[in-house]
Amino acid sequence: MSAPDTASLSAQLERQIATQASAQTAWLARLASFDSTRGNEGPCQAWLAAEFAARGWEVDSFAISEVEIAGKPGASPVVDADYDKAIQVVATTGSPQGGGRSLILQGHIDVVPTGAPELWERDPFTPVVKDGRMYGRGVNDMKVGVAAMVHALDALAALGYAPDAPVYVETVSEEECTGNGALATLERGYRADAAFIPESLDHQLLRAELGSVWVRARILGKPGHVMAFDPAANANLAAYEYVQDLVALTAEINREAQDHPWFGHITDPVKFSLGKIRGGDWLGSVPSWCEIECRLSVLPGHPLPEVRARVAACLQATADRLGTAHPEISWIGFQADGHVFEQGSAAEAVLARSHEEVMGTALESFSQTATSDTRQYDLYYGIPTLCYGGHGAGSHSPGEYTDLESMARTTRIIALFIAEWCGLRPLRE
Ligand SMILES: [Zn+2]
Repeated sequence: MSAPDTASLSAQLERQIATQASAQTAWLARLASFDSTRGNEGPCQAWLAAEFAARGWEVDSFAISEVEIAGKPGASPVVDADYDKAIQVVATTGSPQGGGRSLILQGHIDVVPTGAPELWERDPFTPVVKDGRMYGRGVNDMKVGVAAMVHALDALAALGYAPDAPVYVETVSEEECTGNGALATLERGYRADAAFIPESLDHQLLRAELGSVWVRARILGKPGHVMAFDPAANANLAAYEYVQDLVALTAEINREAQDHPWFGHITDPVKFSLGKIRGGDWLGSVPSWCEIECRLSVLPGHPLPEVRARVAACLQATADRLGTAHPEISWIGFQADGHVFEQGSAAEAVLARSHEEVMGTALESFSQTATSDTRQYDLYYGIPTLCYGGHGAGSHSPGEYTDLESMARTTRIIALFIAEWCGLRPLRE
């Protein structure tokens, strides 16, 4: 049995993926029914580990705390998390002695918190299918990508093929706050000739992305009775001043970004968010403390130490203007570099052919103003990494949905990619 040509394999895959469509949709719904927010990934990962084992894949399930990641490139500080519970899963399939190129297929299964419950029309973890879309927390970001990569391998297996090289199927957590899950898989020893992360990117290839830094500032006031409306005394009022200065710093960086080679065409690509604020204990007293937690994007070419120094200087300048002590500054999550993916890699050429075969259009790439796990593989470990996936919208919002027709296409594109990158061998000799 020799591998078929691309067009006939593509036609076989299209039929096979259509045959397994309802099973794949049900699988995605099951995956999306797990509330796999930070600290709660365990049951979701246990279900995935069982799914992978049932396919005959060798499963390695481990906590981040079992791997030494501190001080490694790409490691972000961990605050408010128990890494004994941060379970990562790597399943190995394919042929260990095959003649093809090895591959990491990676998807994150952590999802962001649901936010105000009043804003949800339905339970976030009871996915609903309507008009060809599946709605629910995490369906698009990015459990659909996990469903696509797993069912791409299933479709090849149903047609009697296995990859002719090792394939590592990785489901990780911490993508939404540190990237330490992906880092743990790398430090556990999993490396390959290429990595493929099927984030939902509307059938475009990620060419450049922003990093981000997360910072906490603890602001102290001057405790006393509520006598005056004074930001130098009232730490909650001071927080407004700090935030306004950080917004001004962001505007300054965005002016610098106007001639950036990869982000100059985007208006204000650098985003600042005041993500959390809490302060004060008693309405009759001046709030003596306030903590703000903020996120700021990082442009490729802007080194993290410089970005952190600018943020710290900005916070200190606010304190100096108010005549108060400098706030205590902590870096509490993402310390992620922005970066640009090499153009014209061998892996990109294979994806371009797979994409064109299924979509009928040339593969286009774009710059994204968000952060993904790709840097861990590509930037710090030199593994050429493709970030590419299908259509959906509303990630991180109650309207999050993914397009199921697009999932089928992505599944076929990944299967074709595996076929050409890894090569195929008969499943049973
Ligand atoms: Zn994602």
